[in-house]
Amino acid sequence: MRSAAIGHIAYAFVAIVLVALAATVKTDGYVANILMQAATYAIAVFGLSIVLGLCGQINLAQAAFFALGAYSVALGTVDYHLPFWLCLLGGMALALAAGAALGLSTLRLGGHYLAMVTISFQQILTVVLINAIGVTHGPDGVSSIGRPAGFASGHAYLALAVAALAISGYLVWRLADTRLGRAMRAVRDNELAASAAGIDVFRTKVTAFALGSLLGGLGGGLFAGGFSYISPDQFAFSDSIVLLTMALLGGVSSPIGSTIGTGLLILIPEWLRFLKSVPGLYLAIYGVAVILIVAFMPEGIWGFVDRLFRTPRRAPSRSVEPLTLRPADSGAPVPLEVRGLAKNFGGLKAVDGVSFRVRRGGVHALIGPNGSGKTTTLNVVTGLYRATAGEILIDGVDVTALPAHKRTVAGLARTFQNIRLFRSMTALENVVVGAERDGNALAEGGHDTLRRRARAALDFVGLGSRADETIPSFSYGHQRLIEIARALAANPTVLLLDEPAAGLNLSEKKALHDLLDSIAAQGLTILIIDHDMTLISGVARHLTVLNFGRRIADGETAEVLRQPDVVAAYLGVA
Ligand code: ADP
Ligand code: MG
Repeated sequence: MRSAAIGHIAYAFVAIVLVALAATVKTDGYVANILMQAATYAIAVFGLSIVLGLCGQINLAQAAFFALGAYSVALGTVDYHLPFWLCLLGGMALALAAGAALGLSTLRLGGHYLAMVTISFQQILTVVLINAIGVTHGPDGVSSIGRPAGFASGHAYLALAVAALAISGYLVWRLADTRLGRAMRAVRDNELAASAAGIDVFRTKVTAFALGSLLGGLGGGLFAGGFSYISPDQFAFSDSIVLLTMALLGGVSSPIGSTIGTGLLILIPEWLRFLKSVPGLYLAIYGVAVILIVAFMPEGIWGFVDRLFRTPRRAPSRSVEPLTLRPADSGAPVPLEVRGLAKNFGGLKAVDGVSFRVRRGGVHALIGPNGSGKTTTLNVVTGLYRATAGEILIDGVDVTALPAHKRTVAGLARTFQNIRLFRSMTALENVVVGAERDGNALAEGGHDTLRRRARAALDFVGLGSRADETIPSFSYGHQRLIEIARALAANPTVLLLDEPAAGLNLSEKKALHDLLDSIAAQGLTILIIDHDMTLISGVARHLTVLNFGRRIADGETAEVLRQPDVVAAYLGVA
């Protein structure tokens, strides 16, 4: 924690020095203009680092949100004689509202729809700015834009812009480590896993988009006051692309990268100005420079530098309290029940009228040959797929109509047959996301409690000492364990495991067996899918057997395994 405090102090110090420099150092008008442009653009680029960097969503209209802020300040101060601050706040609110509306209407649709809609929004706004002359002054633009009292001089206003840059940069930097920021990163890394961890994916995306737009509006509002003249051609689609390139060039995942990228893309054209006599050459060199940087530094300049100097952090090996599992207990004997469940994919009946009851505090196994519908059953139970027919009850409550994240809130936690972790995050962060589930009574009390619980869950699966490593450095077997830790940290009522032993070697399987025993010993109800009959017959008290989507047997493990049709269908021996 101490290094974090030093980071904050260093940040505040640098920010204050920069503001003081902006307020005092003599600059000619040319340099001052470049600095003003860089500071206000960088704020808008921070917005993209939220939308794209943290949440993985594309926004090709940041110049339009910038324009909303700029025109609010311009028209508000010039035509309506409103105070600057009010206009700036209004512009930010307008950008926020437009971003939220755009996000609400399209973010359910996925990647390229969002790109298309943002492009359209950008074009429509440009058309309005040019043609609604009565309101916007049209192509002539707006001049004599006001500045707030006390910030009329170039120095003072630049200092204001730099202060706004420093504050918004700080907030974006801190955002990554908040619950909302983690949710955004989880959505970016793996939407399905995020929803299974209890995150409302849609709401998270809309929030990211709206916050990004808000910063666009702030940057634009400050830009208008800085230059005292704006016109529609400053906020065209090509400017949105420039803003996006700034973000990608510097490194989209951090505000430092955004600032570097913005500075460079404003400066490179200035450096290349002497080439302007040869038509086209300037643009070609500019383009090649950008392509080279992006090609050789896919994470941007800051991502590249950060990687060079990043030292692998060792997690402190202080002992933590053992993981407690205190599954909610309504008193009813059956925490999970499935009635007449069906799922069709086109003409294929993947699950065909399956019913079973998972009894509290035991291990219940769902087995069957490959393709018999086990994973599909789990996906319908956890809400990743909508049921074609049937009901799912958690603790007696019908959850069939609930989306996945609400079923997680209601008490389900799961792992995936093909591992789904948040790959750019550390093992600990993955598990913190799990622990953050709404309704997890054991994770209340702030971030430290959460981290302790996540750490305890990692210790529980034997990976506590590697808490700060990112996912790609873990073996397949260990990744499965991190998924289990993420699910356990949520303190679920029922844990669902889809083939946890697949791909494990013998000693890993033995360790998994012990792990399942110690989970079950704490009274947590488990529904497990697996092919390893040694494991299944060792841990499961109850079996449900599927074949071709139908339930062919259900009952006590030993009894079911004696049934001839089960033996024939599943074990393949007469
Ligand atoms: P199991 O987990 O028992 O091996 P699955 O539930 O994965 O089986 O698959 C059951 C059947 O449903 C298979 O025939 C599979 O091809 C089909 N299936 C599973 N998921 C989908 C999907 N998303 N779209 C279409 N068919 C699917
Ligand atoms: Mg499967």
